[in-house]
Amino acid sequence: MRHLRPLRPLLLALVLCLALLPGVAAAQPAAPLAPTAPKVPTAVGDGGAAATVDELATRTAVDVLAAGGNAVDAAVAAAAVLGVTEPYSCGIGGGGFLVAYLADEDRVVTIDHRETAPNSLREDSFLDAAGQPIPFGEAVTSGLGVGVPGTVRGWQQALSRYGTISLRQALQPAIDVARSGFVVDETFASQTEANLERFADFSSTRELFLDDDGTAPDVGSVLRNPDLADTYRLIARRGADAFYRGPIARDIVSTVNRPPLLAGETRTVRPGGMDLGDLASYAAPHRPPTMVEYRGLEVAGMGPPSSGGSTVGEALNILEGFDLAAADREEAFHLQFEAAALAFADRNAYVGDADYVDVPLEELLSDEFAAERRALIGETALPKPVAPGVPDSAEGESTTHLTVADDQGNVVSYTFTIESTGGSGIAVPGRGFLLNNELTDFNFVPGTANSPAPGKRPRSSMSPTIVLRDGEPVLAVGSPGGATIITTVLQILVDDIDLGASLPEAIAAPRASQRNLPVTNAEPAFLASPLRAELEARGHAFSEVAEIGAATGIALLDDGSFLAAAEPDRRGGGAAAVVAPTP
Ligand code: GLU
Repeated sequence: MRHLRPLRPLLLALVLCLALLPGVAAAQPAAPLAPTAPKVPTAVGDGGAAATVDELATRTAVDVLAAGGNAVDAAVAAAAVLGVTEPYSCGIGGGGFLVAYLADEDRVVTIDHRETAPNSLREDSFLDAAGQPIPFGEAVTSGLGVGVPGTVRGWQQALSRYGTISLRQALQPAIDVARSGFVVDETFASQTEANLERFADFSSTRELFLDDDGTAPDVGSVLRNPDLADTYRLIARRGADAFYRGPIARDIVSTVNRPPLLAGETRTVRPGGMDLGDLASYAAPHRPPTMVEYRGLEVAGMGPPSSGGSTVGEALNILEGFDLAAADREEAFHLQFEAAALAFADRNAYVGDADYVDVPLEELLSDEFAAERRALIGETALPKPVAPGVPDSAEGESTTHLTVADDQGNVVSYTFTIESTGGSGIAVPGRGFLLNNELTDFNFVPGTANSPAPGKRPRSSMSPTIVLRDGEPVLAVGSPGGATIITTVLQILVDDIDLGASLPEAIAAPRASQRNLPVTNAEPAFLASPLRAELEARGHAFSEVAEIGAATGIALLDDGSFLAAAEPDRRGGGAAAVVAPTP
């Protein structure tokens, strides 16, 4: 990736210290960083672009770009801010997948910083004494479900390999937001409310996120997180190793192994078995992206341990045999549901951590296999679940996605998470962040591609995606939403590539998600449309869910400008911005 011109680092450091950090010079917490501009879900212009779920994070990314930082710098700086303002969806207690197009090297790279099972985890760790899976809710709120966090190692890898600023510089804006605080909005208040019972049971979480009387903070109040500011500052000063070794690592281990349940609480909280060696040996490998051709475009995604790239890719390969552009919307959805169901059947059977199981990735993404699967699709809905195919050789509301592009041609598509909204519900005392419950993404029963094992990474659905035409990025997109991430990304790609929707239209469109289950989840607006009756006539059945996903994306337009897009409504709406808006 291109490096900054000699004077630029100085300018960048100055900007990060002065413009972004009004509160850093003051000894006392400054006023909360109120958004300087109204939050808008769409922005068009030049000089680089960003879209995230949060105004402060988007602004941070655009400020870093304006100061000469590249897309990777901006993505990490924005991600660190999201760790403060979206602490129930992401943060240094979790993990993620970063997909980047590097203009100078003309290639797509990925960094897998998925959480990892501690070495003590066994295939039957999620079974009770009778050999039955433990209740899912008990696995979520436990030390047992916590994976070794990958986010800090991922940020460090991204910056040291592909960035132009240090981790210290990238963390500065977030340190200031954590110190100064942010204004609690409806979404944050309702997410706190939904977690109230379990947050209240842990001394650390109660102290961090609840008012003194154990209630959720009011909308409009200011939430400061000085503990997280200190944790970030320690990492800024000493590097990523300050998280994986030493006092922070010790605190993580003791919290996982002895969750700070308040005296008198009767909740069953299973301890984990993490040790310092698990943290010290954590690595964030660079892996090849998945790549499929679709309508003359190349779609790059995240391979195992995510099932995002392979499942979106297989569904696209199946759909390529149909003329979706000529189909009406109802037929296009029918075909999309069928393709998604078939691809999910194969995902469920074959995809897990490829360091542990033989994932037949090449076959799953081959045209021959897609043709076999496509042949099963008819005019009416296949009974679900469909069975997996035989390749030759062989879910939630948390998470956040951000997308950044710079004016040098680099693009970052980054999804990261702590799994459930509020993760495990267990904050590390005095450190200001929640631990993930990512190990609940394993199948609890032994003997499958995604069964638990020591050091293994649970299968993910995260699908950070970059679409290229003749090797040049034209679109980047992603979403949270557990297994619905795959169908959300698929639906946006089909809307945009086949059905002529603009990126903002594709993101705003009512969603439906078929994941090889007897019913297809759909949003109220989808079910209120005539599509419902037409699709039911073909044998599809629906169940209503309030919201599916919270996507962000950037389209790189033919004239060289950027179109950044976030949700207009879902999860309270996201924030898009460009460095130099088109007047
Ligand atoms: N843990 C999920 C995954 O990796 C993401 C959680 C969510 O988006 O709700 O697939």
